[in-house]
This record gives sequence, C-alpha cells and structure tokens, in this order.
Amino acid sequence: MKNVDYIIVGDGYAAFFFAHQLILHQKSFVLFSADKKGASQVSAGIVNPLVLKKFTTFWLAAEQIEFLTKTVSEIETYTGENYLIQEKIHRIFHDEREKELWLMKAETDELKPFLNPDFETLETIINPFGTGEVNQSARLDVNGFFKGISAYLQDNEMVVKEKFDYSKIEGSSYDGFTFKNIVFCEGMGVRENPFFADIQVIANKGHHLKVKLSEKMKHQYTLKKKHFLFPLNNDIYYYGGTYDPNERENEIDDFKTEELKEGLSAFYPHDFEVEEVNYGFRPTVKDRRPIIGNLPEHQNYYIFNGLGARGILNGCYFSKELYEHIENGRELMKEVDLKRFNK
Ligand SMILES: Cc1cc2nc3c(=O)[nH]c(=O)nc-3n(C[C@H](O)[C@H](O)[C@H](O)COP(=O)(O)OP(=O)(O)OC[C@H]3O[C@@H](n4cnc5c(N)ncnc54)[C@H](O)[C@@H]3O)c2cc1C
Repeated sequence: MKNVDYIIVGDGYAAFFFAHQLILHQKSFVLFSADKKGASQVSAGIVNPLVLKKFTTFWLAAEQIEFLTKTVSEIETYTGENYLIQEKIHRIFHDEREKELWLMKAETDELKPFLNPDFETLETIINPFGTGEVNQSARLDVNGFFKGISAYLQDNEMVVKEKFDYSKIEGSSYDGFTFKNIVFCEGMGVRENPFFADIQVIANKGHHLKVKLSEKMKHQYTLKKKHFLFPLNNDIYYYGGTYDPNERENEIDDFKTEELKEGLSAFYPHDFEVEEVNYGFRPTVKDRRPIIGNLPEHQNYYIFNGLGARGILNGCYFSKELYEHIENGRELMKEVDLKRFNK
C-alpha cells in the first residue's frame, strides 16, 4: 500500500490547478489521468475579464486575474516556463453604437481598468469600425501548460495514466493506495461517478477550428468578433469556440464547423484552409458558479467541478479555495458551495 495525502481524479484545469496547490504545500498525491483530451485541452486559453457581448465584467474578475498571474509564476519555478502569453484581446466593433457604449463604460469605476478607450484599425481584416483593446486580457499557452505540468508529474511519479475505476474504491483506499482525501475533477466525466452522479452540471459543447491563413496577421492580438482568432504557430491559427447547450453525441457536428467557417469569413476576407476540427464539453452550471464540496457520508470525498466557460480563471482561483477549506477549515464561499443545491 502506498499512502498519499490526496488522490486527484482527472487531468483538466480543475485537476492541474489543484495539483499545483498540493505541490506548493508539499502534500503527497497521485493524479489519475484517462489520457483523453477533455474540454481543457481543446480550450482556447483565453483569459478575459469581460463579457464581450455586453461589455460588462463578472464576479471576482480582477482578483482571479491577479491570482492567475501569481500562480503561473509559481508553476514556472518547477516547470521552467511561464505559460501566460501577454497578447491582448481586440474586440472588432460591429457599428458606431458599440464604440459609444464601450467609451461610456470605460468611464465607470468598475470597467475603467479593462476597457482601453483608444481604438485601433487593423490591417488584413475587415474592421470598418475599428477594434477596442481589453486591458489585462491574456492567453494561456494551453498545449505548453498541459505538456509542462504533465512532464513534471511524470518525472515525480505523481501520475497514473489510467481511468479511475470507481468500483475499486473502498473507504479511504483505492487499488494499492490509501489516501487522506480524494478530489474528483472529471469535468463532464462526473456523470460516471457514482458518488456525485446527481450534481447539476450541464454539458455545453464547444468546437474550434485550426486554420491555415493565406494572409498572416501583422499584429500579435487575439481577435474577437463572433469567436476568438489567434496564432498558434507558423500560419496556423485557432478559431473558436462555439457554444451548444443541447445534449449532443461525442462526434464533430458539421453544422458547427460551417458556423465557424462563416464566422471567420465575416471578418477575414482571404482564403483559409481548415486543418483540424476539435470539440469538448464544458461542465456548466445554471447559476454560472463552480461546484465545490464533499459528501456527508464520505467527508473526505470532494468534488471540484462546474468551471463553465472560464475554466482557467475558475480552476486557478477556486483550487486555492478548496485547498484552504480542506486543510485549514476555511468556510467555502456560499456561491460555490455544493450545499447551495440542498434546498
Ligand atoms: C472549445 C472550447 C473552448 C474553450 N475556451 C476556453 C477559454 O478560452 N478560456 C477558458 O478559461 N475556458 C475555456 N473553455 C472552458 C474550459 O475548457 C472548461 O471550463 C474546463 O476545461 C473544465 O475543466 P475541468 O478540469 O473541470 O474538465 P475537463 O477539462 O473536461 O477535464 C476533466 C478530465 O478528467 C478526465 N477524467 C474523467 N473521468 C476520469 C476518470 N474516471 N479517470 C481519470 N480521468 C478522468 C477526462 O478525460 C478529462 O480529461 C473552453 C471550452 C471549450 C470546449
């Protein structure tokens, strides 16, 4: 039997950011990875303090961005890389009215830190009304982040590349391990978890394209019109992701590929080739808050889920919330507590 402080089930943002808290506090753990691409691995990596439809912000946006910046610097101390790319989002305006709204909001105390009032007009794309820059926005190098942390976990024998088999768990032991706590971070895979099968997460399917652009951009920005467009490497760009809250099969939906191609053509007037189509299922919650908590009958079984459309900010910030709750007895914020559903 190997004794560990924690077992983590999953390998997306929830699992990796929680693993980081354990590394930081020198707790022993083993992480189970089914070695399949979840929502995190296909995500765009956008870190954005705004809701770009309405030019509003959201709960804890500034605190979350500050905490993410600190966390990626901590991760850099053991992987050797900082995965946060300082490329700003440029929102392509649809009309004059949107520009006026942006300027008006840029004068409010809440939004002033995020809305840059100096507009730009960019080459290569269609943007007759120009673009507005989102201050404090950035992008995570998603591929680098998962590769770098996975390599560290493997080198330190902290990962088991196996699907966690729920039938093998007995009290505080699992297949040759004993643990103090277990944290389930399976995203939509939670539907197979018999302990938390009834948690209220809704799958929101998202597709993205990897496209080869015939005309390269002359700037280093993340563009946003209907979806996000940004460079990956050479002439390959990421464009996505779509949203679809309907129950869908585990396969590419051709109508979403078409939607993406149309969305890109609306502001990119040159040829492009679709190199790849990928999709994932975001674990979303009706009240748009993560879900954190434990079971009354198994107090050391925890859930960390419901990261929604903001997996990076939510995963990073609330991993600390969960850690403090388990190790130091700090009360969970009521907004994210699993108990809010016990009504
Ligand atoms: C197209 C798209 C674009 C997105 N873009 C962004 C973005 O730009 N910025 C942002 O912040 N968020 C973005 N998101 C949202 C973000 O990806 C999700 O919020 C996040 O991935 C959820 O993380 P998670 O760890 O909870 O779940 P997941 O990423 O789904 O990870 C769960 C993992 O656990 C594994 N697993 C499940 N069951 C088991 C088991 N029994 N044993 C072992 N492993 C198991 C699964 O294989 C999976 O890899 C995007 C999502 C999509 C689909």
